[in-house]
Amino acid sequence: MKRLTPHHIYTLQPYQSARRIGLTGRIYLNANESPWSSTIKYQHTNLNRYPEFQSSVLLNKYAQYSNTSINNLLITRGADEGIELLIRAFCVPKNDKIMFFPPTYDMYAVIANIYNIKKKIIPILSNFQLDLINIKKYINNVKLIYICNPNNPTGNFFLKKDIISILDMIPQTTLLIIDEAYVDFSIKNSFVPQLNKYSNLVVLRTLSKAFGLSALRCGFVLSNSNIINVLKKVSAPYPIATPVSDLAIKSLQLENIKCVQKNILQITSNKDLLVKELQSFSCVDHVFPSKTNFILVKFFRSDVIFQHFLLHGIIVRDQSCKIGLSNCVRISIGTINECQDLIKVLRMFKGKKDIR
Ligand SMILES: *Cc1c(COP(=O)(O)O)cnc(C)c1O
Repeated sequence: MKRLTPHHIYTLQPYQSARRIGLTGRIYLNANESPWSSTIKYQHTNLNRYPEFQSSVLLNKYAQYSNTSINNLLITRGADEGIELLIRAFCVPKNDKIMFFPPTYDMYAVIANIYNIKKKIIPILSNFQLDLINIKKYINNVKLIYICNPNNPTGNFFLKKDIISILDMIPQTTLLIIDEAYVDFSIKNSFVPQLNKYSNLVVLRTLSKAFGLSALRCGFVLSNSNIINVLKKVSAPYPIATPVSDLAIKSLQLENIKCVQKNILQITSNKDLLVKELQSFSCVDHVFPSKTNFILVKFFRSDVIFQHFLLHGIIVRDQSCKIGLSNCVRISIGTINECQDLIKVLRMFKGKKDIR
């Protein structure tokens, strides 16, 4: 295998998705999924014909939802495919460089590694904001900049003025990509309104999180039409299966959007309760404020807490190996019962020998 496989693939660390890690339990709070299954139902359509390259009905629906036009949209197999298409379309292996700001979503690094693209890594500051001084210093010759906003796993938005200052700093030959996988939980902070002003701005969206359709694998790239047209060139011939676009269209009907908005309010209220409860535990060092459907929690001993949750069937996401996040665990917000269950399990821990 070593002689068969290119060196950069041989040494590749694949993305450690929640499903690949494969822990099993009663309550899954490790992948930022919705705890509620969407109520939309699939009605069988004929599958003997290839699908449209891009479903025009779905394009229109999402253009309406996102306040853009169909020329500014590409439908993808999740936001993950958007991350990949941008690198495939705009980066030359071994030559071009992408920049990103950890701790953040790991796929930017994984895709760069797969395509043998250089990485300029500028960690965020201890207040979880962008390090503008170092970004400015190293921005030269960077092709793509990936900003996860709100950021996964820290849960915060970056300051709007900081992102704008990067947009004003970079040339037309550098693209700024804002991954808005969680923006539906706080839609007023979206950068979509800036697309008209900045032709090198790209926004990524998904139906996997707030819409509760992780299994559907449907996302969108939003940008100016010239960029969208280049991405279309490198796309697979029939990227979106007909059942996927049919269901995505249903998820964007007004009735379902109302349901999604109701679920967002419920998640926010469950999150507020969970944060308040967690802050009273002596094993908890800090709960970071979050605008998303997950929270980042710093414990005094996250390894022991993680195992305790696991032992009681609650699966959370360990973040302790990430830069600046020692002893941190990411917890997705579940139903109210799941939140209360988590608190109950943590109380059992508190009863044990104090681990603080
Ligand atoms: C979940 C997630 C994605 C992936 O979304 P898919 O549409 O399921 O591929 C992309 N970016 C971030 C920051 C995420 O958390």
